[in-house]
Amino acid sequence: MTGATPSTPEPNDYLATLLTLGQLLNSSLDLHQVLETAIEQVIAFVGAERGFILLVDMETGRFVGEAVRNIDREAIEATLSERDQTNRAEISRTIVQNVLTTREAVVSVNAMDDPRFAAAMSVQFANLRSVLCVPLIAQGRLLGIIYLDNRIRTAVFTDHHLSMLSAFANQASVAIENARLYDNLRRSLEERLRLHDELHKQATQRLAVEEASRLKSDFIGFVAHELRNPLTTIRGYVQTLMQDTEGTLGDDVRDEFYEAIEADSDRLLDMINELLDVSRLEAGRPLSVAYHEFQLRPLLEKLVRRHRFYKYVTPKHQLDLDVPDDMPDSIEADEDKINQVLSNLLSNAIKYSPDGGTVTLVAKADGDSHIVLQVQDTGLGMTDEQASRLFRQYERVERDEIRNIPGTGLGLYLVKHLVELHVGEITCESSPGKGSVFSVRLPRKKTQAVIL
Ligand code: ADP
Repeated sequence: MTGATPSTPEPNDYLATLLTLGQLLNSSLDLHQVLETAIEQVIAFVGAERGFILLVDMETGRFVGEAVRNIDREAIEATLSERDQTNRAEISRTIVQNVLTTREAVVSVNAMDDPRFAAAMSVQFANLRSVLCVPLIAQGRLLGIIYLDNRIRTAVFTDHHLSMLSAFANQASVAIENARLYDNLRRSLEERLRLHDELHKQATQRLAVEEASRLKSDFIGFVAHELRNPLTTIRGYVQTLMQDTEGTLGDDVRDEFYEAIEADSDRLLDMINELLDVSRLEAGRPLSVAYHEFQLRPLLEKLVRRHRFYKYVTPKHQLDLDVPDDMPDSIEADEDKINQVLSNLLSNAIKYSPDGGTVTLVAKADGDSHIVLQVQDTGLGMTDEQASRLFRQYERVERDEIRNIPGTGLGLYLVKHLVELHVGEITCESSPGKGSVFSVRLPRKKTQAVIL
């Protein structure tokens, strides 16, 4: 290996180089990149064979080789930490230690003959000749050293080189200190940002938990309320009937009372079934369909009759049934579940037509294989966008007109599930202020779901 030919640079060259190096040091806050470029330039300028910058790790006190040229980085660190007694790096530990302890620069024209270092085994074994080593000091703190040598030629480094390298070392020390400060600042900023994100995440999670718990208590409040209402009505009718020991009510009134009691108990049963179904689905347990063949018309008639007693019905409401005489009447399905579906749609149609209007339950054949059941209303209706969200769990379309009408947003979610269990489809056509039509299309016979 041959070193660059030493030259005797003009003082102007020193200044120019120092200026270039100074600019270089200030050009970047990336410490690693700064040191790499600096050692390259210094080696070329002073004609060194090898060189490196050694930095002291502030936290551990260990030496870290940076910007190493023509020497193995690990070998340097091993030699200086005395792990490697063979001195694979072939550098002088004595000279490096000397600079680190005295904090004074060392220049040797021929280390092997230098009375200060000649006795050192490392110097003799490594055949060290020209050596130049300067400390890096910033604000009185030792940051490391710059080490340059040439094992072949003597007197490569002059006093000029020494003063230039010392001046460069001063600038480099400030740059290193700045880069470290910047690095610390960046890290502490990153840490702050991370903490901030973490806090934000925790706050969001807390809000989500609070929201979930609020929804849950709203839900419990609503359910308790909804269950209590029909019960109170049932109790009222039963008490009146029990007190009528003289039979003054008359048969017609009595029949109406019995029908109201039946309607409200059915409503209670529907609600309890709905809650049980949803909790079953939430627990990941599928609902099953108990198929049997039954007559549709009596079920539809019963549903319309029953809903005349629904609590949101006003004298301005009209409830109709529209089933053509030639409608094929039998269907193979789960009667309770079809009852649940239509009951939900009818209750909604009444509930969301708060100013009254006509609610019609329609049944018609769709070819030989299918039946379409429709619940039409002339109520509030909704936009296409609102309609597209209807069948999702807990989804409610909030509107001022129905703020005081309680709901869980579970009804249509369950309805869709029940329809699909029958391999049927449910759709909604609606327009704001005009009303809605919910259509359920069902196969007349038990059908296996095709899984695509
Ligand atoms: P809930 O009635 O308990 O809120 P649903 O799942 O039954 O839950 O309905 C979801 C939303 O769809 C309701 O909040 C309501 O705004 C809207 N909706 C349902 N049926 C109708 C209808 N016939 N007309 C207008 N809006 C309706």
